[in-house]
Amino acid sequence: MIKTCTICNSATLVHRQNLRTLVVVAGILDVLLRIHVERQQDAPTNHAPWEQLGKLVALLAKPTPLLAEGTAQGETLADNVAKHWLGTFDSLCLNCGFLLMDEPDDPAPG
Ligand SMILES: [Zn+2]
Repeated sequence: MIKTCTICNSATLVHRQNLRTLVVVAGILDVLLRIHVERQQDAPTNHAPWEQLGKLVALLAKPTPLLAEGTAQGETLADNVAKHWLGTFDSLCLNCGFLLMDEPDDPAPG
């Protein structure tokens, strides 16, 4: 079940546990794109369909130190987002900015 925001009802909640994964993926993509752009500086500009995507995927086939650099970059950002955006909350709605705390799975009997 996808948890939705209690304010705007969007499924755009980012939980503290998912934040690190999302930002690490973004960090890896950023490193990948930077290397790809550097390699394309002197390349011809007339590319066949799918050619550039193929080159990006080929970069991922040589993971180190590419993945390590992107992971480190993403983890640094994830730490800062958790500290400066989430604070003591558990989830942030990317749509409306609402911050939520986790509710206990098993409510105490009553
Ligand atoms: Zn919301």
